Amino acid sequence: MTSAERRPVKLRPEIVALPPYKQGKPAPVDAYKLSSNENPYPPLDGVIEDVVRATSFNRYPDATALAVREVLAARNGVSVDEVHIGAGSVSIISQLISAAAGAGDEVVYPWRSFEAYPGLVTVAGATSVQVPLKADDSLDLPALAEAVTERTRVVIVCSPNNPTGTVVGAAEFADFMESIPDDLLVLLDEAYYEFIDREDAVDGLALTGRYPNLVVLHTFSKAYGLAGLRIGWAIGPVDILNAARASAIPLSVTEPSQVAALASLERDSELAERVSHIRARRNVIRDGFLDRGLRVPEAQGNFIWLGAGDETDRVQDVLYSHGIVARAFPGSGVRISIGEEESIASLFRAADEIARLLPAAHPLSTLG
Ligand SMILES: *Cc1c(COP(=O)(O)O)cnc(C)c1O
Repeated sequence: MTSAERRPVKLRPEIVALPPYKQGKPAPVDAYKLSSNENPYPPLDGVIEDVVRATSFNRYPDATALAVREVLAARNGVSVDEVHIGAGSVSIISQLISAAAGAGDEVVYPWRSFEAYPGLVTVAGATSVQVPLKADDSLDLPALAEAVTERTRVVIVCSPNNPTGTVVGAAEFADFMESIPDDLLVLLDEAYYEFIDREDAVDGLALTGRYPNLVVLHTFSKAYGLAGLRIGWAIGPVDILNAARASAIPLSVTEPSQVAALASLERDSELAERVSHIRARRNVIRDGFLDRGLRVPEAQGNFIWLGAGDETDRVQDVLYSHGIVARAFPGSGVRISIGEEESIASLFRAADEIARLLPAAHPLSTLG
């Protein structure tokens, strides 16, 4: 049979229609890669050496990552079963969505938010309900609660929100939790937790044990600089995490990633120092953009968001011409990760040009 006659193999149509996950552009050697919210620093001192020394590459890893869970449980005052480890927190989000929602069920989340959410919901067979952000690009928690129906199985709250950088307030989050049924799973995605400097932001780790339906997600990918090793964690009620464990692909959390996480957790002061540099740099960059008349929402992650609407492609080109690879969301804006100190001068030269390109009242929010 020639390929012209061959009918396509039967696959789920909603999966065939799904765009494959789009990664940030690879950067040319002489450019700054500020497109994937990666840490510009290598893993903390000694972590790579520990991985090489302590990994038995011919053996399977510890399936439950017990040693890592023990450290995280002790730090957070919970039992080891209230901690779950995944190959990146994205895998845990996937497990929890699959564990809670299937065909005919709905998953409610803000939009725009993390690019991975829509695909994970579709793969689970469930339906996405996307709730628009507010005009200042922050999450609209009352609207998220409003969107809950009896078909809803999961609500995702992302704070700081990727890609806009805004955080949810602690009081606002408490009101939100009050307003939704306590048998509805809520995922609080705190991938950028370490970069927050607003005192009144929600702090998922301070809420452990408070809600029977809340799971908080953290990762070693961003602040710890271990994105390439794939390890993240969740803290929450045992019954929910057991459902995640049951939905997981066995043995997907590798031993090198477990060793690296453990070694990283022994290096708190070094982590704090590094995070403080990135945070300070972020604030300098945001202020520099604001000083040039550009509108950038509150930035609490390791990135800033520039709403550029129809000018998004041109803004991306300007950045590129200054040696910066950023992540463009066509028609809405550009997310720029906080990278090397030396990238700041290039960024500001680009910002001078962008300020001439965008109208003074360029929209913060052209998301959707
Ligand atoms: C980066 C990111 C994650 C974590 O990714 P992993 O590398 O899988 O741990 C989770 N949520 C959001 C919003 C992110 O931006």
